[in-house]
Amino acid sequence: MDAAIQPGDDARDPVPTRRVHVITYGCQMNVHDTRRIVQVLRPLGFQETPDPALADLVLLNTCSVREKPERKVLSTLARLKPLKEARPGLVLGVCGCVGQQHGEALLERVPYLDLVFGTDNIADLPSLLASVEHGGRTSHTRRMTHDDYRFLEADPAVEAGPTAFLTITKGCDRACSYCIVPYVRGREVSKPPEQVLDEVRRFVASGVREVTLLGQNVNSYGRDRPVGCGFVGLLERVAATPGLLRLRFVTSHPADADARMMECFARLPVLASHLHLPLQSGSDRVLARMRRGYTISEYLQKVEMARAARPDIALSTDIIVGFPGETSEDFQATLKAVEAAQFDTMFSFKYSPRPHTAAARLPNDVPEAEKAARLRDLQALQDEITAARMLRLLGRDEEVLVEGPSRNDATRERTSGGRLEGPVQWMGRTSTNYLVHFPPPEGRPVSPGDLVVVHIEEVLAHCLRGTVRGNGEGRTRGSG
Ligand code: SF4
Repeated sequence: MDAAIQPGDDARDPVPTRRVHVITYGCQMNVHDTRRIVQVLRPLGFQETPDPALADLVLLNTCSVREKPERKVLSTLARLKPLKEARPGLVLGVCGCVGQQHGEALLERVPYLDLVFGTDNIADLPSLLASVEHGGRTSHTRRMTHDDYRFLEADPAVEAGPTAFLTITKGCDRACSYCIVPYVRGREVSKPPEQVLDEVRRFVASGVREVTLLGQNVNSYGRDRPVGCGFVGLLERVAATPGLLRLRFVTSHPADADARMMECFARLPVLASHLHLPLQSGSDRVLARMRRGYTISEYLQKVEMARAARPDIALSTDIIVGFPGETSEDFQATLKAVEAAQFDTMFSFKYSPRPHTAAARLPNDVPEAEKAARLRDLQALQDEITAARMLRLLGRDEEVLVEGPSRNDATRERTSGGRLEGPVQWMGRTSTNYLVHFPPPEGRPVSPGDLVVVHIEEVLAHCLRGTVRGNGEGRTRGSG
């Protein structure tokens, strides 16, 4: 590993003299990569700024899974152009999946862009910046071979708050026909379990209380090379970390999420009561054309397994409408499957063909207006289900991991005789991943990372409100 990116080596970090602003699109993997970008820039004297107008370096960490976020990259670059014109010394860069996909072509298309680098090249950022600063616009999208790939060791110092993401695999060996990820992220590589465990231990030592293990398909962990354990073995080892209050993982491919994995929800109490299990379609015909490797009845069996292991588990999913050849009967099958599965939340999208995918060769034959109508129907159904699932929490006591002040309250502080008294509202998440807002409990300090018991008094469209249980029983475990 490059000595310049060894974690926890603050003594070598120079006093911050430059500022970086990173705009992150897409999935948690990109959120994680942004932390690694900040990490490799720290030894160069960079600190983060929320304001691009103050930055010496602005990076767009991009997503190309769908057409819409990809288009957004160009509009964001256009929005940043006046900054670059006012300050030619500002370095403007694109990384992530769009950077990997388009490379040099992006430099040609956007004349004021200085830097493009790919998903395997975060560790190269210091040398890439040096070449830009010496006058050259630079593109670097070299894909590492499977055996050469080394994961950057996560540095707890760049995490903000009591929750953290941790990659356990990169890339994907599946070949879902609509998906560009295998092209932009490459073949799957598993992180050695010792590195995962060491990073979790260091996260916990630095105050992190909840870790989410990340991979495109976490269930295939360890299949690409002998790492000493599979995903279930890794879960068992990570779950045993002292001080870790919650463990999550994402994403599980339904074909690979087997009974042994589902049983972990019964055996490992630290595992949060939430499972993201992308369905994509409720029609066997469409699932086969998507090359998903399961039928709807097999999928629903997995849902049953998860609920048998952890009856209160919350399920979330992804669904694509308007896949090539999707008939109105296929779509009705999707609605029926959604009714049957009773998801807590859903991410749903209109199909858009992606380059370098098998489905891009199929006729994109569902009209846009029909796709939009199907999406509306699907979302209306899911909204009803979500509302009913959330209503079940009304009047219940829920364990909530405190993440920090509610966003709208972060800057509002009550004063009493001139004294600051902290946020008006706190926010945190239930084990089932619902967002909860609550006022500070009387006479009892609350800190990010605490687990408190909140009595749920109100169910809103996207969150819950409640109050911390009184008489000393409200605080369970925590950092303080
Ligand atoms: S499992 Fe399928 S949808 Fe998920 S990243 Fe791999 S190819 Fe894409």
